[in-house]
Amino acid sequence: MPVLVYTENWDGKFKKLSFELVSYASEIAHILGETLTAVSIGSVDEHELGRLGNFGASKVVKVENDTLKYLDNQVFTNILAQVAQKEGASVIVLSHNNTGKALAPRLSVRLKAALASGAANVPSPVHPFTVRKKVFSGKAFADVVLPTDVKVLTLAQNSFKVIETGGTATIESFIAEPGDPTTVVKEVQKQTGKVLLTDAEVVVSGGRGMKSPENWGPIEELAQLLEGAIACSRPVSDEGWRPHEEHTGQTGKIIAPNLYIAAGISGAIQHLAGVSSSKCIVAINTDKDAPIFEAADYGVVGDALKVLPDLIHTVKETR
Ligand SMILES: Cc1cc2nc3c(=O)[nH]c(=O)nc-3n(C[C@H](O)[C@H](O)[C@H](O)COP(=O)(O)OP(=O)(O)OC[C@H]3O[C@@H](n4cnc5c(N)ncnc54)[C@H](O)[C@@H]3O)c2cc1C
Repeated sequence: MPVLVYTENWDGKFKKLSFELVSYASEIAHILGETLTAVSIGSVDEHELGRLGNFGASKVVKVENDTLKYLDNQVFTNILAQVAQKEGASVIVLSHNNTGKALAPRLSVRLKAALASGAANVPSPVHPFTVRKKVFSGKAFADVVLPTDVKVLTLAQNSFKVIETGGTATIESFIAEPGDPTTVVKEVQKQTGKVLLTDAEVVVSGGRGMKSPENWGPIEELAQLLEGAIACSRPVSDEGWRPHEEHTGQTGKIIAPNLYIAAGISGAIQHLAGVSSSKCIVAINTDKDAPIFEAADYGVVGDALKVLPDLIHTVKETR
């Protein structure tokens, strides 16, 4: 009974999270002594599909159809359930992003499978099948037992490393019965030239301490210099200073870049829930007692409106 992993693509290229997911699912397959099958929905070329072998998939099942370019929860659930049943999958792994959060519960109901959403680790023990997940915004862990034959897991983003195995995968086509779509995409507006926040290695983020949207120039400049992405705290996007897709935290995006620079952000628990897995956190805050300094690896007590331009100057000089 193989492990199944759903790999998301955008415009025919797998998202970075797909490689993390395949690595994670491959580890589960290894623990269970099973093989790993990846499922790709939409139009992805053979070369790109073959890359999944390098992260531990021994087989890739591709489901291609012109109507499958954009996510439709019912249609994608139908397809994944059909592939899972055909493969006889024991464990199905998805990402804990918006797509996974929409598909996993539907899949779980369809397959009468127990669901663990937001897994933070590989299952241990596997008899009974036990998954650890974060609860209370990451303040505590819960061990969840999945007693059903088939299990569905969503993996919290950036909680497992990408592991290249050097393996190869066979590619098979599957003709699914997708059913009628429930949504129609009429228009897609793409952002160009921007680093995707969830994929960025460096993130420069601003909070209410930046005082006003007119002060975002240094944040944008530093992000550009470091080839990173821009983020913000929730009040900043609630105020309309920045777009909602930049908001990180419990109710926003969950990220884990190599470097997270937090300027004028207090470090409330709801904010840290989205950024605390960053490899290195640098905080700039006028208040030496701000909670962000407890999470930070490096801290500057000072006015972000003065410190950021100095930082930009130093980065330019160093280069
Ligand atoms: C259910 C729920 C969910 C939430 N989800 C989220 C979430 O997902 N993400 C999120 O971010 N928040 C979330 N929040 C809100 C969260 O509790 C905080 O209110 C919010 O994170 C605070 O944002 P902030 O740090 O930008 O602003 P503030 O709390 O106002 O902090 C501003 C900071 O800037 C510092 N400062 C002031 N001037 C300067 C200056 N010139 N230079 C440098 N520093 C300066 C201050 O000392 C202060 O520490 C949520 C709240 C609730 C109740």
